[in-house]
Amino acid sequence: MSLDCSRSAQPQTALDMIPYMDAVRAVTGKMPEKPRCFVLTFGCQQNVADSEKLAGMAVDMGYQIIDIPEGADLILVNTCAIREHAEQKALSVVGQYKHLKEKNPALIIGICGCMVAQEHRREEIKKSYPYVSFVLCTSVLYRLPQYLAEVMEKGKRILRGEEEHTVAEGAPIRRESTYRASVSIMYGCNNFCSYCIVPYVRGRERSREPAAVIAEVKDLVARGYKDITLLGQNVNSYGKDRADGYAFPQLLADLDKIEGDYTLHFMTSHPKDATRELVDVMAASRHVAHSFHLPLQAGSDRILTLMNRHYDCAKYLDILDYMREKMPDIAVTSDIIVAFPTETEAEFEQTLAMLRRARFDMIYSFIYSPRKGTPAAKMEGQLPHSVSADRMGRLLALQNEIADAANSRLVGGTVRVISEGVSKNDASVYTGRTDQNKIVFFKEPVPEGEWAFVKIDRAAAFALYGTVEK
Ligand code: SF4
Repeated sequence: MSLDCSRSAQPQTALDMIPYMDAVRAVTGKMPEKPRCFVLTFGCQQNVADSEKLAGMAVDMGYQIIDIPEGADLILVNTCAIREHAEQKALSVVGQYKHLKEKNPALIIGICGCMVAQEHRREEIKKSYPYVSFVLCTSVLYRLPQYLAEVMEKGKRILRGEEEHTVAEGAPIRRESTYRASVSIMYGCNNFCSYCIVPYVRGRERSREPAAVIAEVKDLVARGYKDITLLGQNVNSYGKDRADGYAFPQLLADLDKIEGDYTLHFMTSHPKDATRELVDVMAASRHVAHSFHLPLQAGSDRILTLMNRHYDCAKYLDILDYMREKMPDIAVTSDIIVAFPTETEAEFEQTLAMLRRARFDMIYSFIYSPRKGTPAAKMEGQLPHSVSADRMGRLLALQNEIADAANSRLVGGTVRVISEGVSKNDASVYTGRTDQNKIVFFKEPVPEGEWAFVKIDRAAAFALYGTVEK
């Protein structure tokens, strides 16, 4: 699978879009009421961060952001391609917007993100969704003003796949939270894990300039943001596309020098690139949270090879043990895929054995599902649902025991949390997250975005319960 793309190796800035922004503003400025834009996001934290840029550009061009699609003049659907199900869901939602277009023929609908990087999806949109005005691939999201201006001026649909090997700087961002923020430090992925679509839809790795990342984090800290997550498909390979050897540990160390009351997280890491140097920087830092998301995926070296992961269980445990030696309070979370093609019962048992050995605080677990266009989708030995469902059940039962025991060790101690305000599921309690990303419930009111120290009274596999200390 490839993009029928125009490639550019030149650095770009969103400032190149100024003439197009002016052109769109000239249209929105003449509308009798301030036009409305609805942004719907599917998928990962990177997509959420991308949507904040889409919304920021829309606001800059004269739109107001609304929470529902009804009444919108511009709808942007930011899609995910990680699973077939995510794509079907996005297309079904876009199908529901047909009646909005019938009611308001001036409505512009754009589909953005990973799904539209795939040629077969663009073809499908061209034929089956004639009311969609444009598709916008991830590496050119900053071109939203240009696409909008072209749609407004020429009334033509834009359905091309575009990929640029660039890092666009300077796009406005409309952040959803006043205390928690994501900062993309790099884009794309070079790893081609055999089950994963991401390298095909997000292109090759491109690192942002350290100065740009540092300036963005400095600005966030100055504006009172307390919980900042550095994002990339594989943050550990940050800087590998640079000539000067400046890499992720240096970036983390430089960010840690910023004075202020904040915590730094990062995700996602790849075990083949996670180094002792990085662990040393974390252990010596003032602001980097003692939490690490390190996807294991499987406990069998044969399956890891089939997955094209480029590490084995021994290497994984080596870096894990070093982390725990340097930071005994670290929380480690992981991703596990069960029932990868040809996985035997004995190999699945090896995954369970790795869980017992690694004692993750939490895992995100997935039943393997084939993605069109990836090598694993063509492999022999795809396993039936009865096998994968059984393995998933056993995996979760074991992990619940492990997480329960890990959280129980915190009972009686005090943790620092950042409050997320009143719980969405129970208005009588407040929730917060520890630096290790654990969810804590407490009764005492703490305003959203404020730190609190909470004494832990009780623990379960997925949450802690406590009392705020005065
Ligand atoms: S590291 Fe592997 S799993 Fe992660 S985005 Fe890249 S290819 Fe996909």
